[in-house]
Amino acid sequence: MKEFPKFPLPTAEIHVWVVYLSARCNFNCSYCIQKQIMSPDETRRPWARYQELSGKEWVAAFNGLSTRPEHSLILTGGEPSLHPDFYDICRDLEGYQLEMTSNLTFDVDRLIQTMQKAGKRFHSAFHTYHPKWMSPEDFLERAEKLRDSGIIDQPIFSMVDLDRFPHFRDKEWDEQQKRFFDLARKRDFATQRNEFRGHHMGSAFDRNAKKEIGCTSSWVNFAPNGDIFNCQYHLESGQHAFGNITAIEDCKPLPQMGEWFSCSDFGYCDPCHENSGHGAFRDADGRIFRRDSDDARVYLQWMKPESLRSVARRFEDQGDYDEAAAAWLAVIGKEKQEGGDASPESWADLGITLWEAGQKKKGLAAILHALELGHRGMDALVAAVQIGRETDLLDDIRDQLSSYMEREKIVEIEQAAMAAFV
Ligand code: SF4
Ligand code: SF4
Repeated sequence: MKEFPKFPLPTAEIHVWVVYLSARCNFNCSYCIQKQIMSPDETRRPWARYQELSGKEWVAAFNGLSTRPEHSLILTGGEPSLHPDFYDICRDLEGYQLEMTSNLTFDVDRLIQTMQKAGKRFHSAFHTYHPKWMSPEDFLERAEKLRDSGIIDQPIFSMVDLDRFPHFRDKEWDEQQKRFFDLARKRDFATQRNEFRGHHMGSAFDRNAKKEIGCTSSWVNFAPNGDIFNCQYHLESGQHAFGNITAIEDCKPLPQMGEWFSCSDFGYCDPCHENSGHGAFRDADGRIFRRDSDDARVYLQWMKPESLRSVARRFEDQGDYDEAAAAWLAVIGKEKQEGGDASPESWADLGITLWEAGQKKKGLAAILHALELGHRGMDALVAAVQIGRETDLLDDIRDQLSSYMEREKIVEIEQAAMAAFV
């Protein structure tokens, strides 16, 4: 056992030791937070290549410490089970409250047998279902087997909650998600939703600019090669390592919980680890703040008009008309960047959505602009007439329409509006 006058790693209850056994993952989800930029069009890639410590090295290093975290030791990644010695590491770590996070693609039977044979257990395990990579049936079968094996005291099975973020999902994802929750309900199987954290302090997470700030991020993160970092950004970038778990006697002390230190990398902080819950930032004026909740609109800036249209329609389908209108405005902005005005169809879609969002006059203005540009879609025409009725502007609308079409056509539109709305 190694003894220290002052142990370099914080061990108070709030601290969590997180062991990234591998930076690799067998999935590459678009909503993965381990990305350089949280653009919906980007998928995850391993953040670095590592000479991964072997299972024997991990176990020797951790079991050789005289001081252990009072809280948990979490095995994670990437996907931790991609480490070639994953099962041995789970079995051989001693004296830790063991946890893991995984996408549940490992050999469940092998882990159960390994742990049962050694009389070992996990304190908890956090398994997330990722649609598009596995069927709900397969995941739930594995999950039930693991839960019923008794090798995990508190198993948690979850899905990331993308209800407010259609930017990161598609039809297939929605269908799989629905099946997952339906099946889980039928089997009386407990699941939960996880907060999506793809956002940095109210802005897009794009690692665009850095600045100096006070920080209290005192996670204890072990990179796949054993290097030790106080936050996930530093781990991913390989900067500011405090030492290595295999040479803990040379490790510099990590910050203690609540201890302020200066960091010039604020802006690049990983959204998951930017002090969520456990710490805070302090700006140059002494103001203390934490991460805030996600604003779905920050993702629109990266999307192509075609993807934006599909996001707008998905927001409409779920009755979220304000967000749909924001997506249509983004479409119009992108189309204008390509030169000239946006397409009449986009103005019409924006107008109808604004109307559905209760912004009648703005909606009418957008529809009239679409008509000016030559749009003659029946939906927009009916919406214009109906808004005219609801705002006592019907005579004005009739005048406008008469410059584009015959009287009989206007009557037909008014009849269609009556049939639909009266
Ligand atoms: S499974 Fe998890 S770590 Fe892997 S790409 Fe998906 S979200 Fe990221
Ligand atoms: S400011 Fe951000 S990058 Fe710097 S230590 Fe804190 S969490 Fe990490």
